[in-house]
Amino acid sequence: MLKAAKIRIYPTTEQAAFLNRQFGSVRFVYNTGLRIMSHRYKRHGQSLNAKHDIKKLLPVAKKSRQYGWLKDADSMALQQSCINLDQAFQRFFDPKQKAGYPRFKSKRGKQSSYHCVGVKVGDGWIKVPKLGPIKAKVHRKVEGRLKSITLTRTVTGKHYASLLFDIEQAAPEPIQSVEGSKVIGLDVGLSHLTIDSNGRKTANPRFLKQAQQNLKRKQQALSRTKKGSANRAKARLLVAKAHERLANARHDFQHKLSRQIVDDNQVVIVETLKVRNMMKNARLAKHIGDASWHALTVKLHYKAKEQGKHLVKIDPWFASSKTCHACQYKVDEMALSIRSWECPTCHTQHDRDINAALNIKHQGIIQLKAEGLSVSAHGGLRKSGMSPAAA
Ligand SMILES: [Zn+2]
Repeated sequence: MLKAAKIRIYPTTEQAAFLNRQFGSVRFVYNTGLRIMSHRYKRHGQSLNAKHDIKKLLPVAKKSRQYGWLKDADSMALQQSCINLDQAFQRFFDPKQKAGYPRFKSKRGKQSSYHCVGVKVGDGWIKVPKLGPIKAKVHRKVEGRLKSITLTRTVTGKHYASLLFDIEQAAPEPIQSVEGSKVIGLDVGLSHLTIDSNGRKTANPRFLKQAQQNLKRKQQALSRTKKGSANRAKARLLVAKAHERLANARHDFQHKLSRQIVDDNQVVIVETLKVRNMMKNARLAKHIGDASWHALTVKLHYKAKEQGKHLVKIDPWFASSKTCHACQYKVDEMALSIRSWECPTCHTQHDRDINAALNIKHQGIIQLKAEGLSVSAHGGLRKSGMSPAAA
C-alpha cells in the first residue's frame, strides 16, 4: 500500500538556485516535447509518443553543445517530464475526461520535479540527487520504504516535498458484508458543502468564505493596476498568496471532514458527474467550485481504501432531487429555488437536499448488492432533525 505525505522544505539560497535551474530543465523538456509533437502532427500528420519518442531525444540533447546543460538536472526528473506530457495527451484523447489540448508550462506558475532514485528522508531533512540534504519540517515518521519525492515550488516561492512511501503492507481486504446503518449517501448542495442521508448538513466554514472574499478583493486590486507596472507585479503576488491561503484552508477542512465521514461509516455513496453538468450553469459554477466536490471525493476515496471501506460513485441520477425517497413518485419539474416539498402521493415532507441524499444512498445500495456485497437491513430511515454541523 502506498502512503503520501507532503512537507514544507527550506532550501538554502544555493539549493534554491539549483532547484530553480532544475525546475527550468523539467519545464524545458515538457515544453520542447510539446512543441515537437504539435509541429510533427501539423506538418506531417504524425502522432509522436512522448513516453518513447521524446524520451529517446534526452540522451541526444544532453550530448549536444546547445542543450548540454540538461546533464546538470536529475535525469529521472527529465524522464518523468516526458511521462507527464504523455499523460496530458492521454487525458486530452480520453473522451470521458474532456481535457483540453496540453498547454505550455509557464515559469510564473507552480514548478515541480520528480525524483525516485537516490532519495532519502531523515529527521529534519530530505535528500534528492545532486544536492546535499535539504532542511525539512518532518511532522511524523511514516514507516515504510521511500519510493519517490516530488519537489514543488509555489507561485509565492514556498518549497514543498511530497513523499511517497511503500508501507509494505497489503491494503486491507474490502469489507464484504456491510451494516446498513453504516452506509451514508452524500449530496452536494448550494448552501452546504455536503448534505448526508442522516440529515446532517455541513456548511463551508466561515474562514473559507473569508479567504475567498480576500482573494476576490486582491483580484479586483490586480485588475486596477497598469500592465507591466511594478504595482502590477506586487498585486499579482498578493493574488497568488490569497490563492494559496484559500487552497490550504480548503484542503485542511476537507481532510478533517473526509476523515470523520470515513471513520463513522463503512460505505460512502456519492454522485460524481453531476458537478460537471452543473458547471455548465455559470451561476452555479461559483458555488460548486467553492465546494470543490471533486477534491473531497478524492480524499474520501483513498481514506476509505486504507480501511477496506467503499466509496461508491453512482452515475448522475438527474432525478435524485425530484424523486420521493419514500414512495419513488417522481415530480416532473422542480425549480432550484424550491428547498422543501411535500410528496403529492404519500404526503411525506421533504427537505430537497436530504431527500436527494437518501435517494443517492438507496441507489448506491442497489449498486453494492449488484456487485455481490451483502448489506444488512438498515433499520428504516432515521427521521432527520436538521442539524447544521458547525465546521
Ligand atoms: Zn412519496
